[in-house]
Amino acid sequence: MIIDLRSDTVTRPTSGMLDAMFSAKVGDDVFGEDEAVNALEDKAASMFGMDSAMFCPSGTMTNQIAIKCFTQPLDEVIADETAHVYRYEGGGIAFNSSASVRLLNGDRGRLNPELIKSHINPDNVHHPKSSLVVLENTVNRGGGSIYTIGQIKPVADLCKAEGLKLHLDGARLFNALVETNDDPKEYGKLFDGISICLSKGLGAPVGSLLLGSKETIKYARRVRKVLGGGMRQAGFLAAAGIYALDNHIDRLKEDHRHAKMLGEVLTGLPFIKSVMPVDTNIVIFELDDTFPAEEFVIKLNEQNVKCNTFGHQMIRFVTHLDVNSEMIDQVINVLKKIDV
Ligand SMILES: *Cc1c(COP(=O)(O)O)cnc(C)c1O
Repeated sequence: MIIDLRSDTVTRPTSGMLDAMFSAKVGDDVFGEDEAVNALEDKAASMFGMDSAMFCPSGTMTNQIAIKCFTQPLDEVIADETAHVYRYEGGGIAFNSSASVRLLNGDRGRLNPELIKSHINPDNVHHPKSSLVVLENTVNRGGGSIYTIGQIKPVADLCKAEGLKLHLDGARLFNALVETNDDPKEYGKLFDGISICLSKGLGAPVGSLLLGSKETIKYARRVRKVLGGGMRQAGFLAAAGIYALDNHIDRLKEDHRHAKMLGEVLTGLPFIKSVMPVDTNIVIFELDDTFPAEEFVIKLNEQNVKCNTFGHQMIRFVTHLDVNSEMIDQVINVLKKIDV
């Protein structure tokens, strides 16, 4: 039995999800004729109180399309220095949007209005034009840290006052929502664009949605086409997404419980220097200098537990749909038996 804690992207479709996929009503989605894709887009948009949604193969694509929609060449995007849109999307902001990025040092990846305000450029020709703020919720490199809607509201107010667009990289937004119990419709009121991922904790094999106004999504469809992201009978994938939204949101709490259990055990181990607070399904910790992180990964691998390094002496564990309570007990046993 392999226990894969490398990412919440490694899940396989459940049998219920596969049934839903095989019975999907499909058509040509580039013609707007795929029933399952249309149903998924309508469902996601109305869930968040937004006009429209667009289905894409990946979260990278929905984020990059959003940035393209909300900037012009020579503009500047404001984001945390750990942001996925900056660190893990291959330099796409420069490539796709010809925009620069201002990186801020937030609290475990979370920005506040004062910090953002002090980095908005003055409106003169020397400076790129600040035009977009991107938040991430939950923050991957923040150890799954959460924004509440109460923390986002003042950021949205600032953006409105300063004429900036606001986009949310919500690859793991549902992990935040099951903890805060915030109303998803409030998100629709505050953001110009929202990306959600179906293939992280929700357990679908593929897929992300960009949510926005009618005009935004109309233009976004042009950008998706030019990137080669217009898929035809994509309803087989969309049906997995619908199934995930109906069945796999509430259970995310289980992943969070598992992550907290791992965090607690790690905190007590002699070769661990520090563990980031565990708020959702991500556990990031630092090993003592005497125990090289690469060696730690190999030792766990030998016991059928897969994980990755996440920076110098850092390790990340991610819990998900394909890790059950027995597996967590097994990981805890393995961790307790490690002798350095
Ligand atoms: C996974 C992830 C994405 C999207 O990644 P894809 O692999 O392109 O779907 C975006 N933002 C965050 C924070 C992520 O963790």
